[in-house]
Amino acid sequence: MRRIQIRNHIPNAGNCRKTHEKERWIIRPQFCSYCQGVLQWMRLDQKRRLVCQQCGRVHYLDPRLAVAILLYGPKPVIYLAKRLVEPGWGQWIMPGGYVEPGEDLSRACSRELQEELHLSAGPMRLIGIYLDHPNTFTAVFSSPLIHGAEFFGSAEISALQPFAWPDIPWSHLYFTSTHQAIRDFVAEYLWQDARHE
Ligand SMILES: [Zn+2]
Repeated sequence: MRRIQIRNHIPNAGNCRKTHEKERWIIRPQFCSYCQGVLQWMRLDQKRRLVCQQCGRVHYLDPRLAVAILLYGPKPVIYLAKRLVEPGWGQWIMPGGYVEPGEDLSRACSRELQEELHLSAGPMRLIGIYLDHPNTFTAVFSSPLIHGAEFFGSAEISALQPFAWPDIPWSHLYFTSTHQAIRDFVAEYLWQDARHE
């Protein structure tokens, strides 16, 4: 745990006041978890860091980890849901959410599928891990949609809808990870398909 001498570092008031758009997604603590002192942005090693004004501890904003599941069918189609919360209301996303303490990634996927769509996961395969700006890494898994499964929406997403490759709504996808994972999944599928022709 790094601490600094407060007296030697005068925060740059201009920088502290400036609210960056990208910080909308970062849950910024207000108080020190050790001494309850007030945290303020200060410039350290050319970076903005949150520093406790009482004990001098530096509070690092660690990246968060999320999972998402790209469900697909045999036709070939993928299944997407409409996002029913802001930001990104009405855009298309995959079911998913943040990994909870003590969970491994496959457990997090199963829980999210169950919570959001009342679905059980099929065999899962990692497509990739993508950076959703500014501070979340999303591990995206593919999974076949179990035939005959009935799915329901939740408060956050609509029920799933199938999209054949040519109909994927590329300009209405929400989250960088959604776009990149679908792109990678489709590219691999098409490549495999070409090899077998
Ligand atoms: Zn403190």
